[in-house]
Amino acid sequence: MTSTPLPRIAVCGISLEASTFSPALTTAAMLSPKRGREVLDAWPFWSTGGSLADRAEWIGILQARNIAGGAIPADDYAQLKAEILGGLVAAVAEAPLDGLVLDIHGAGSVVGLDDMEGDLAVAVRDVVGPDCLLSSGMDLHGNVSRTLAETVDLLTTYRTAPHVDWQETKERAAANLVARLALPAGRRRPAKAWVPVPILLPGEMTSTRQEPATSLYARVPEIEALDGILDAGIWIGYPWADEPRNCAVVMVVGDDAELAMAEAGDLARELWERREDFGFVAPTGSFAEVLAAATASPLRPYFISDSGDNPTAGGAGDVTWTLAELLASEDLAASGKRAIYASIPDSMGALAAAEAGVGADVRLTLGARVDDRPAPPVEVAGEVVAVVPSEDNLEVVVRTPTVDVVLTRRRRPYHLEADFTRLGLDPRSADIVVVKIGYLEPELFDMAADWMLALTPGGVDQDLVRLGHQRVQRPMFPLDDVSGVDPVAGAVLFPGDTA
Ligand SMILES: [Zn+2]
Repeated sequence: MTSTPLPRIAVCGISLEASTFSPALTTAAMLSPKRGREVLDAWPFWSTGGSLADRAEWIGILQARNIAGGAIPADDYAQLKAEILGGLVAAVAEAPLDGLVLDIHGAGSVVGLDDMEGDLAVAVRDVVGPDCLLSSGMDLHGNVSRTLAETVDLLTTYRTAPHVDWQETKERAAANLVARLALPAGRRRPAKAWVPVPILLPGEMTSTRQEPATSLYARVPEIEALDGILDAGIWIGYPWADEPRNCAVVMVVGDDAELAMAEAGDLARELWERREDFGFVAPTGSFAEVLAAATASPLRPYFISDSGDNPTAGGAGDVTWTLAELLASEDLAASGKRAIYASIPDSMGALAAAEAGVGADVRLTLGARVDDRPAPPVEVAGEVVAVVPSEDNLEVVVRTPTVDVVLTRRRRPYHLEADFTRLGLDPRSADIVVVKIGYLEPELFDMAADWMLALTPGGVDQDLVRLGHQRVQRPMFPLDDVSGVDPVAGAVLFPGDTA
């Protein structure tokens, strides 16, 4: 009896969605790097008892992650990259690596550098050598540059937005890698068909809850199920960074190179043909229009997405423009309704309000420390009604005559009912709930009696033409006249071992 030794698979990466239209920066510390065992413990499938735990010798190197924000300063990126490469050098010195999971989002940005993920993949490849198989499970709002497509052997992405399949996708990337490593050397690499499609769309127009994304994404598992195909994906891409790589990408990988290329081309053409059908996931308007609709509506809770500064898309999070409008609204005051506003981050303000304590009347000047382009800091005067410290944050609620303002030390998303109820706020019985968010995450979506998306200013402005991209490929839909464009003109087939 001989037993095959387990494959050695390293796990590393930097996962961030970074707007280059925001003055915010994301430092190495803000990416909270995990190291060694911690990297593995972050995902259930390869930690102890998980479905893949015993299928490989998993080696955690370094994984850094943040919700979304501004670009990473060059020195901070260099430091994280050096630590990843150093960890890989040490791992390779013990024994060669058979595989590597590059855990990335795909929309990271580094100040002064294009294509962060491509740069990292090439550097990693240099250390692990040509025989090691690389796999990535990405966010569909990430970008797949030609370099990344060429360097990583197995690429897959989420198939839903909101991303209810995020964990499944990360597991699929790892499971596909383990499966390919079980094949004999020389037969492990699939062919990859990569088709960049000249489309730039915000996530708020491409939710898989609605057409045409629903039916386009329904095609993905059908293609995956074909003989000779391993995986397929549609990356919508990230519109809030101005780099040459930013656009949609369709990829199909499999041992049947010809079929992979044909299917990728067909899917890319379908995406292109339906480009005009993408619309916002909710009715939209200026903030004044949206607030007028909310105050006039008999329905509650009425949700308003303050979309231009959505921190989970890359907004700085401390844009004050919408809060200032809300606090000053005479229509809101006259309607007798009240609103919850989540949220405005301001470290000094949160500490001051917490120190004053529950029951104290405070007058604070908040926000616009990072992004003051749309509006200056906002005055908030009211009673402190909640102070909730946590391990990495401090949340305070200040009650003004018309608004319960959620104030935090650090920017954070408000996606769950518990995010509100923890603070003593009941969003279900509120008249109006204004959240820095794009499309509503599932719990809020289910709770909303009605919902509008306000086209507010900030680093992730939904009005892409207003942003003024300079460096993306042209012509690009919807920035340019694209009549006569061949959507698959940029298609490339990277041959696999069996091609
Ligand atoms: Zn995403």
